[in-house]
Order: sequence, then structure tokens, then C-alpha cells
Amino acid sequence: LKTIVSDIEIPCAFGPAYEGERVRGADLYAQCGGGKTQCTELVKMAEMNEIEDGKVIVDGPDVGDLKEGDTFPMGIFIQVAGREMQPDFEPILERQIHHLINYIQGIMHIGQRDISWVRISKAAIEKGFTLKDIGVVLHAKFHQDFGKILDKVQVTLMTKKEDVEKLTAKARAEYKTRDERVEKMTDEDVEIFYSCTLCQSFAPNHVCSVSPERTGLCGAYNWMDCKASYEINPTGPNQPIEKGECIDPVLGQWKGVNDFVYKASRGAVTHYNFYSMVIDPMTTCGCCECIAAMLPSCNGVMTVNRDYAGETPCGMKFTTLAGVMGGGASSPGFVGHSKFNITQKKFIKGDGGLKRMVWMPKILKEEIKERLDRFGEENGIPGFYDMIADETVGITEEEILPYLQEKGHPALSMDPLIG
Ligand code: SF4
Ligand code: ZN
Repeated sequence: LKTIVSDIEIPCAFGPAYEGERVRGADLYAQCGGGKTQCTELVKMAEMNEIEDGKVIVDGPDVGDLKEGDTFPMGIFIQVAGREMQPDFEPILERQIHHLINYIQGIMHIGQRDISWVRISKAAIEKGFTLKDIGVVLHAKFHQDFGKILDKVQVTLMTKKEDVEKLTAKARAEYKTRDERVEKMTDEDVEIFYSCTLCQSFAPNHVCSVSPERTGLCGAYNWMDCKASYEINPTGPNQPIEKGECIDPVLGQWKGVNDFVYKASRGAVTHYNFYSMVIDPMTTCGCCECIAAMLPSCNGVMTVNRDYAGETPCGMKFTTLAGVMGGGASSPGFVGHSKFNITQKKFIKGDGGLKRMVWMPKILKEEIKERLDRFGEENGIPGFYDMIADETVGITEEEILPYLQEKGHPALSMDPLIG
């Protein structure tokens, strides 16, 4: 028995028309995530008898308990069950949360996974919006859009700090497992890459190409996920791309990809490189987890993650970079990428690879420490983790250069970054 949902019963208007709408400072009532509190999303498959379809649980204070200007933590935990459901589909469903919450008039959603950010406007509160409405929307739209694979959807919205923390720990373990599913694959192993055009509603010319060694820049879609998404929805946003003739193996450019991107961007983007941020990099949209930028006087590059709000040696904070780069253009010298991609083997390989990395925020460095250490060992640069400067060393090129010299950072003895 399939549930057919025609109307979505919430007090606010709902639809794709509201997707690009912003909730600016003066209109803001309350918010969660965005570096202020924790906001985490997780979709998990459940047994059919474990969950109740349409059940929405709000566990903890709701918006009625908040004052104007308040922040609160939130965990969005969605359980789905269905005869056609597979664990491989979890990331695809989870990535829908972004646009579906954005469809609610007066509510804004940014990011994904454990770096989500939800802003609730005063207008929405006046109409009577409560957190339950998020669950109502997700339940209805999951049935509408993914009825083929699922029969039951149950949503839990947690707002107690300790519960959100528990969910976040569980979610991070899931993300790690998902990320590592492509760990042993290489781009040479496959003939097919996948496109992702899910973000074209925000960045009309943006086309992500996802290969085993180039996870989507939002961090939420890797090659396996795109493959699963294509299986669920063969006419959807993830299409197979026959990579075709290799034009440049070092920079990572293929004829089949260029042809696809040209069409999918409606002629705006003629070509791009998978493995370079200096020369014609891949296009960047606003949901990237990190943005890399060149630091010419250090002969290296830096990257900054969304969850770091401070200044950086390239002279721009993450939000400024995302504002400038996030419109879907290819911006030589900059590229959006996922956290996981930093330690994927082809990361900016055409520019010298991860050895170029001279600065990262401390939280990001710590988050991927294990993988940075492994990179150091495998590439004969023991202590590489320590050679990368962070904000405790400095936030300008002049401040970090002496540190890099003292540590003997490999970037300093590499070929010039700009040829
Ligand atoms: Fe898809 Fe790229 Fe948007 Fe991620 S950032 S949802 S991979 S288009
Ligand atoms: Zn995007």
C-alpha cells in the first residue's frame, strides 16, 4: 500500500518558488547550526515494523519556547523503510532535506550533513510554523518523490543538546563509512562518471562531475551515491557521463565530460579540469564544504571549511569566498571541494597535489588528522600534519611563511604554483 500525498498541510506556503528565498538578519526569528549551534541531518533505513509512517516526533523545546534572536541545536533524524529500500539510498534521501526545507516559505536551509544551518523568519512564526512542519514536509515529499523505493517515513526532530550530540556522533560514523566506500576506487578504474545538477536551482550553470576520486563538493554525493541515485531515478539529476577520450591526464580533463558539461550548463561552461584549482577548475556552487584558494607568496594553497568563521590568509572568510565563487562559475585560483576530497589521491594533483597545502583552520585539520597523517607517511613527508599552518600560527601569508620555512614545508621547494 503506497501513501499518496497531494496536499502538504503546514501553515506556510510551500514549493520550489521559495527555494532561493533568503532569511536576512532583520527578518530572522531564530536559527540553528551555521557554526552557532550544532545542526545535523541523518537518514537511516529501518525495519518495516520498527517505524510508523507519518509519525513526526519533536523531542525537546520547539520554536514556541524560543525568544526572538535565539539559537538552538537540532538533529533531523529520518527513518525510512520499504521493500525496495537499500542502505545505499540513504545519502540520496538525506541530500533532499536541503531543497525540501527551502521549499517552505520563510524558512532557509544551507549546508548538509553535520554542518547544516536553518534560519526561521518572523513571518513564518507569525503564520504558526513549528518544527513539526519540517517533519510533515519531509514525510510528504519523500513519499511523493521516492514512493518507488520507500513505504514508511518517520521523522524525529531533536532539540536537546545531549540528544543532538549523540545523533551527531552516530551520523559522523555513518558519513565516514559512506565516504570510504569509494576509497579503493580510482578514476582510471571506471569508464563512467556521474553528473550532479541538483544545485542548478541556486547556481543555474553549475554542473558537478563526480568521479571515484572527486567526491561532490557538498561532500554528500560520491560516485557510489550518484550511481545509486541514477538507479532510483534514471531521468533525475545524476546522469552517467561516458568520460571518453582523455584530453589531459594530469589536470583531469575528458572529452565526454566537456561535452556533457557544455550541454548541461546550456553553453556557459565549455570545459573544466578535475584535478586543478589553478587552471580551469570545476565549477563551484554555494554548498561546498570547503573552498581552496592560492597563496602565491607561500607557493602553496589554503583551504577553509564552512564551519570556520574566522579570517584566512587569502584575505577572505568562507562566507565571502562562497559569495564570490558560489554562483556556479569556474574561477581559476579557487575551487569548492568536499572535506573528504582533500585526502583523496587526485586532489589538485595537477597543481602538485596535497603537498601544496600550507594552511587550514585548526578544526578542519583535526577533523581529518588521521587521513593527513596517512598521506604524510605514504608520501615520505612524516609530520606533514604539523607543517600545515592554521589560525594559531597566523591569518596572513606573511605570518605563516616563517613557520613553513622553519618546518621545512614541501610546498616551498616545489615548482612555482603559477607557471
Ligand atoms: Fe550535487 Fe554538486 Fe550540489 Fe552536491 S554540490 S548536491 S554533488 S550539484
Ligand atoms: Zn550546491
